[in-house]
Amino acid sequence: MPELLDIASDAGGLRIAAEEMLEATFLKEFNEVIRERTQGQAKPAEIPCTVSSGYYARVRHLFELESMLNMDALPRFNPQAGELSGLRALAAARDAFRVKHPPCPHCGAPLEGPGAFTCWKCRAKVKE
Ligand SMILES: [Zn+2]
Repeated sequence: MPELLDIASDAGGLRIAAEEMLEATFLKEFNEVIRERTQGQAKPAEIPCTVSSGYYARVRHLFELESMLNMDALPRFNPQAGELSGLRALAAARDAFRVKHPPCPHCGAPLEGPGAFTCWKCRAKVKE
C-alpha cells in the first residue's frame, strides 16, 4: 500500500489534517452553544477538508494512539513506521490551534480567537 506509507510519512499533510479536525471539533460545540442561545440563528461554519481522506483516517488513528499513551495503556509501545513523526505532527497542530484559540482563563474552553473579549462558553470577560 504505497499510498498509506506516503501519508504516514507526510508530517506536513498530517499536521494540516489534524488542525482541521481540531477546528471542526471546536466549531461543532461552539455552533451548538450559539444556536441554542440565538434559537437557531447561528449559521453553521464549514471546515474545508484540504487533504485526501486517508490523512484524516491516519490522524484519527494517531489521536487514539496518543490518548492510549497518555493513559499509559501501552506500556510496551513499539512505534510503527511514521507513528513518532505523526505524534509530533499532532503536537504541532495542537500548538497552532492554541495560538488561534487560546484557552479561556476561567473555564479552559478554546476562545473564538486571540482577540476575544468574552468567552463564548462561560461568558466571562477575558479582556478589558
Ligand atoms: Zn470560559
